[in-house]
Amino acid sequence: MQGINILGPDAGLALPAYGQALFIMLKTKKEGENSDPAVRKVRGPLTQMFPPSPSLQQIQFADQKQEFNKRPTKIGRRSLSRSISQSSTDSYSSAASYTDSSDDETSPRDKQQKNSKGSSDFCIKNIKQTDFGRREIEIAEQEMPALMALRKRAQGEKPLAGAKVVGCTHITAQTAVLIETLTALGAQCRWAACNIYSTQNEVAAALAERGLSVFAWKGESEDDFWWCIDRCVNLEGWQPKMILDDGGDLTHWIYKKYPNMFKKIKGIVEESVTGVHRLYQLSKAGKLCVPAMNVNDSVTKQKFDNLYCCRESILDGLKRTTDVMFGGKQAVVCGYGEVGKGCSAALKAMGAIVYVTEIDPICALQACMDGFRLVKLSEVIRQVDIVITCTGNKNVVVRENLDRMKNGCIVCNMGHSNTEIDVASLRTPELTWERVRSQVDHVIWPDGKRIVLLAEGRLLNLSCSTVPTFVLSITATTQALALIELYNAPEGRYKQDVYLLPKKMDEYVASLHLPTFDAHLTELSEEQAKYLGLNKNGPFKPNYYR
Ligand code: NAD
Repeated sequence: MQGINILGPDAGLALPAYGQALFIMLKTKKEGENSDPAVRKVRGPLTQMFPPSPSLQQIQFADQKQEFNKRPTKIGRRSLSRSISQSSTDSYSSAASYTDSSDDETSPRDKQQKNSKGSSDFCIKNIKQTDFGRREIEIAEQEMPALMALRKRAQGEKPLAGAKVVGCTHITAQTAVLIETLTALGAQCRWAACNIYSTQNEVAAALAERGLSVFAWKGESEDDFWWCIDRCVNLEGWQPKMILDDGGDLTHWIYKKYPNMFKKIKGIVEESVTGVHRLYQLSKAGKLCVPAMNVNDSVTKQKFDNLYCCRESILDGLKRTTDVMFGGKQAVVCGYGEVGKGCSAALKAMGAIVYVTEIDPICALQACMDGFRLVKLSEVIRQVDIVITCTGNKNVVVRENLDRMKNGCIVCNMGHSNTEIDVASLRTPELTWERVRSQVDHVIWPDGKRIVLLAEGRLLNLSCSTVPTFVLSITATTQALALIELYNAPEGRYKQDVYLLPKKMDEYVASLHLPTFDAHLTELSEEQAKYLGLNKNGPFKPNYYR
């Protein structure tokens, strides 16, 4: 089949005829040269960027059950969820605001439900919530312009025709837009939730009503979690061709239970830090048997998720949990990387006095140049009202710091998992814990001093706020393009390894979002392109540019 580059000649991303329809980019003409290699193998740089952290190394999969007949009680379900992997309990809780008002306690697994076309190939909370869910999806569509553009540009072409995609992601309005885009591009999808808390039941209903085989509901038990994944994968006569995973649980399940399926699977697209880490582990052990795309480290995802998303969601998370007023408050932000920069900028813009701690002189200097006071934590810990960790490190805030904080100090983490604040050190007999709100604990010292600990030291924004749809749009578009690429790539382009998408594709994802802002991109003249040694159509930055 004749390949066509959807991303321009030097991306090397060949797609069948579809490419022409898709790649009506902002600047079109793309004849000619072929320079950079298509993809980057990034094991080296990536492991440097994300050294296996202790907590990742500790991640264990839940005890795998092939039999699902031992059904836990409701209370049992909650307690079981503790042992599921981190990614399945960390929650992008935009869904948290959509609680299911029905007090129907029946497990979805015990219900017989059909959509209006008579299909029952799904398992969700309540199919009757479909209208509400559809409205949620339509609202999300407005903030996901690139996916909508992909649908439009496909113009009847089906680059994912025949692609049986099994997915395991948060099931929210935003992922619904992704799933429905994949379907519009020809894929047949079966989907489970990657998180036991984050499913928007009404969105799952809307998907099921449209014929999608979705197995997910908010508040699954651990047993439900694996059962739903199994129902997605294990269907007579249905062999997945592609995996779209967020956290690696689905990939792991197929490896453990149905390894033969990999003979026909063309690739894995993985979004999360945890899942990517698992893929690298598999690759290192020589056990990765299909190519995998690491979406997590694509430059657009990094920039938007870490910087812009955190810049918005830090305020949202703090407000929702504490109703704190930021003006005039003193805050210390530990770590001045992308996340720290976002948090510091947001707090400063609200009138807070912001201190920054850093270990790296370059980031430290950036903090100074941005107008922040660079301090050691111990210098300000007695006076600050808010402490935020953003380092990706462990034990950045330890008991000694917590002992010295003033009464009412708010402590939260925007960085890595739950390692940055030594929460375990607060579980001592002389301290009293009081749960004052969902995700808000007061930890009280014998003298009556209390600190306000948010989300038990887990990621504040994932636990307590929403994530802007526009940010998710960028990731979702990257996921869709990664699937298209892996599915259509000719034999041999990708080996059994983990790949990053080429810069050109990052640029393409960004360009699809520009029309939202009526943004007018400047085009390089031939002369300028020659002067800079660039192709007029990009990529405009080297692959190592972050
Ligand atoms: P980064 O590497 O750009 O920044 C981390 C910074 O912390 C670095 O500059 C480093 O020098 C500094 N640092 C490390 N140890 C420190 C210490 N003990 N004290 C002070 N500074 C220290 O990383 P990033 O992109 O900013 O991400 C930070 C963390 O946030 C990562 O774990 C990432 O996975 C996580 N993250 C969270 C979200 C979210 O939504 N909350 C989004 C993206 C990333």
